[in-house]
Amino acid sequence: MSLSGNLEKLSNACGVTGREEEVRNLLIKLMKPHVDEITVDKLENVIAVKKGKKSSPKVMIAAHMDEVGLMVKNVTKQGFLQFAKMGGIDDRILLAQKVIVHTQKGPLQGIIGSKPPHIQKEDERKKVVTYDHLFIDIGAENLKDANKMGVKVGDPVAFDMKYAKLSSDVVIGKAFDDRVGCAIMIETLKQVKNIDCTVCAVGTVQEEVGLRGAATATFGIDPDIGIALDVTVAGDVPGVREFDTSVKMGKGPVITVADSGLITHPKVLRMLMDAAEENKIGYQLETGLPGATDAARISLSRQGVPSGTISVATRYIHSPVGMLSLTDAENSAKLTAAAIKQIQKHF
Ligand SMILES: [Zn+2]
Repeated sequence: MSLSGNLEKLSNACGVTGREEEVRNLLIKLMKPHVDEITVDKLENVIAVKKGKKSSPKVMIAAHMDEVGLMVKNVTKQGFLQFAKMGGIDDRILLAQKVIVHTQKGPLQGIIGSKPPHIQKEDERKKVVTYDHLFIDIGAENLKDANKMGVKVGDPVAFDMKYAKLSSDVVIGKAFDDRVGCAIMIETLKQVKNIDCTVCAVGTVQEEVGLRGAATATFGIDPDIGIALDVTVAGDVPGVREFDTSVKMGKGPVITVADSGLITHPKVLRMLMDAAEENKIGYQLETGLPGATDAARISLSRQGVPSGTISVATRYIHSPVGMLSLTDAENSAKLTAAAIKQIQKHF
């Protein structure tokens, strides 16, 4: 299966943070043919190991399986679902979205509603309707009906959006943060054969609420080097200053120099830049963006793990639909594999 085919399946799967099971099962299936063993740790990170000819160094590559979404917080007497936000979501993008409520009895479609604008007061109409004034309408008659449909407090809610190709290179879909990282991880495993070092490919849980899965996975693996595969904000849309971010969709993998959680280890930065240059992979450097990836948590495990991040510049992340270039994703896999193949030159 191609990277695009895998990304389509991964993007359409649901894995609201803390409820990653569907994505995990899919990822296990897709990684299995390319690794020696797969385990799931107690926090439910998935760890796929490809043993090297020599046991060291041990490199951990990580992509998070979870996506930002919502969680049912309360069901009203009238049968409307009030919700909490899971991960960083801007209230302005919620209104009128189609969502899927994942209940024990199966998925339910719903839409996010608010008090109709027609009957809002003048000053109300100018303000953003915050999430605590919004609700999910699943068409239930009342609380009893909603219960009968299977809704429970704590049910995860994902955006209802299907993967689509806009051109031969540009695709849209939900949860590209970080299913594209998962797809890149699978592609990387395909490309590293007969190598000296051992590769642990990890699908992490609960990244969006504080890089939690990466903490336990890294402690268990005890790697020598860490590379997070993730997305970053593409700055190539109207209204973004070059100063804020200069990375662009379609201009190659992004190598992080520093973000709010990590200053990339100089040896890792050198290794990634050398790998890109030696293999003629165009890349972009990024620094100073707020936010962090699993690499921040990996780097602080035990006595410290030299770490870095390779990202795909993605438009509209943390919204119901993202946009990215498949070539960027493919080149991110090439870059990751190239770096792993020559890791012993640097460590
Ligand atoms: Zn992410």
